[in-house]
Amino acid sequence: MKHFGCAWYPEAWPEERLLTDIRLMKEAGINAVRMGEFNWGRFEPREGCFAFDDYRLLLERLHENGIAVLMCTPTAAPPKWMSSRYPEIRKTDCRGNPVYDGNRRHACPSSPGFRAFARRITEAAAHAFRSSPAVFAWQIDNEIAAEAEHGFCFCETCRKRFQSYLRDKYECVDALNAAWNGAFWSGDFPSFDEIDPRSFKRVVRKAEYAQFMSALYTEFACEQRDILRRINPDWKITTNSWTTFLPDVAPDEIYAELDYASCDTYVGNDTLEFIHAFWDYYRNIQGTPRAFTVGETGAWNPVTVRNDAYGALSSWAWDALAHGAENLFYFRWRQSVMGEEEHPAILPWSGNPGLAYEAVAETAHAIRAFSERHPDLPLPDSKALMLVDRLTGFITKFRGDYSFFHAVVRMNQALNEAGVLADLLPLQKASADILARYPLVILPQTEHLSDTFCGTLREYCRNGGILFAQCRLNRLDEFGKYRMEAAPGTILRELFGLRVDESCEIRRAVDFREFEYNGRTVPPDNRILEVSLFGETAGLLSFMERPVPEGCRVLQEYSAGVYQGAPLFTECGNAWYLAAPMDRRGLALVVKCLLKQARIPCRKVPPKCQRIRRGDMVFYLNPTSERVCFPDDGVTLSPRECRCVPAGDAEEHVPPDREMGAFV
Ligand SMILES: [Zn+2]
Repeated sequence: MKHFGCAWYPEAWPEERLLTDIRLMKEAGINAVRMGEFNWGRFEPREGCFAFDDYRLLLERLHENGIAVLMCTPTAAPPKWMSSRYPEIRKTDCRGNPVYDGNRRHACPSSPGFRAFARRITEAAAHAFRSSPAVFAWQIDNEIAAEAEHGFCFCETCRKRFQSYLRDKYECVDALNAAWNGAFWSGDFPSFDEIDPRSFKRVVRKAEYAQFMSALYTEFACEQRDILRRINPDWKITTNSWTTFLPDVAPDEIYAELDYASCDTYVGNDTLEFIHAFWDYYRNIQGTPRAFTVGETGAWNPVTVRNDAYGALSSWAWDALAHGAENLFYFRWRQSVMGEEEHPAILPWSGNPGLAYEAVAETAHAIRAFSERHPDLPLPDSKALMLVDRLTGFITKFRGDYSFFHAVVRMNQALNEAGVLADLLPLQKASADILARYPLVILPQTEHLSDTFCGTLREYCRNGGILFAQCRLNRLDEFGKYRMEAAPGTILRELFGLRVDESCEIRRAVDFREFEYNGRTVPPDNRILEVSLFGETAGLLSFMERPVPEGCRVLQEYSAGVYQGAPLFTECGNAWYLAAPMDRRGLALVVKCLLKQARIPCRKVPPKCQRIRRGDMVFYLNPTSERVCFPDDGVTLSPRECRCVPAGDAEEHVPPDREMGAFV
């Protein structure tokens, strides 16, 4: 790991304290800080008057003490003078009311005035720090992809730009009306000028506005990127995005334009499976596996993990490192005395080092020693590729259905528990060359695929790759509405040897935070349908389809429910299909079967734990509070223990056939 540090807001503390902070950081082994985000008010206290001297002095002190700086553009927190003097820079909410300042992220991303101010502060800050050897990289804005605080902007400027975006995309309004199924409920628009996103109730239209906003925020980020690059081409540039596969805008679109990816990751014991999948996604978000940054992680998480809280600070850092993180920043150095986010930090409000400081220091020294012994550790070796589709994400999100995200996380969890680390790749980045590197490719409830990409998948199977798809496959067109033909469309219908016309809900979807695989309570009226799968019992979750065989081999029929007797799990050459989301027991059986077909070695890994190979080293990670055993490796770990050992001959272990006998 190159940088192990924290977010620091020196502007919030007495000047005479700051050298003490730098000394304490150095003693703790912290070698980087993230600074400057939200500091627009002090960088430009009055319009056009800039003040960077305090920071310049601090950068010198930090550099003298071996602490590097990830500098941030402060544009997520415009100063008060701006919204007072230029109220038009503020967002307009979905009811047409102005968004007031007093929080952050209240400026409209298409406001010409705001954009000019944002360019000017970026330029001024970049010039001020251009020759500082401490600054190694820049973070643009803060959590640029998270609009949760105020939602999207719906002002007149955004509306006009959206209309123009639609004109470019559809060319004539009849094409747009056809794409958006305007024939229903008198939904046709007579002209582009009459489209107002505030009126959108339909999923497809909301998804279109989110795609437009993705493009708008990408443009906003690129504007700052270009200024920074012009002033110092050596700086690396990123932004930090919020912990989710699909924030309000598409992060893969933004990171395609930046030097590296950085994800804020607040880990909790009950979200570990989600976090593991999230890191596997960020390692691949730019199209090929790359080291990523954990832009923020919690010194505040100890409040969520009860006893052994401080041990978690260490185990989560090692977990991130094993997944491919090369920089990690705790949030934050010292607990805020007032305002938002008063949660615990590395130092408490008093500034006196305590247990969290000691835990972070111990971790920093251990990680530095490890990184010096293994300076060129290759990224994790992944044998399985899971494709994460942006359109499916938007559509399911606006449908209020989080089963897509569940499907990604559950499948990743099932692979992890079989000892396999997957690469999670944005589907839009996938190509024949990339697919060919993996013996197993997974489509988790992927609701749209282009015909071109369906052809790529067909070729992948012809060349010997194992393709697995889990229900809802390619049933939507590129606009997000149902195709007027059976799923999964002509090419995949032949490839999988089946068609799907009918499906039904088993129970209402659970809230997206309710990961039942973690043993959290499922609402009592949410029934799981139990079926038998290869002689064992498995639960079907939320949804099931009724595939009609057209050449596939039926491996398992539904043993219960309205589709009893219909195919549940099928195989057609190298293309495998599961017609319903499954619980942990069911997915474990399915995954074992797929790994055997793809000839990927598997071994048992305890729940929430990880076995990750990087080059000639293998990480065994136990982020839980229990003692665990990796039975196939003969490794036992204490609570919160991480162990990294040279990979031995055991790596080539192949699961015994007796475990797989039921499938073949
Ligand atoms: Zn706007």
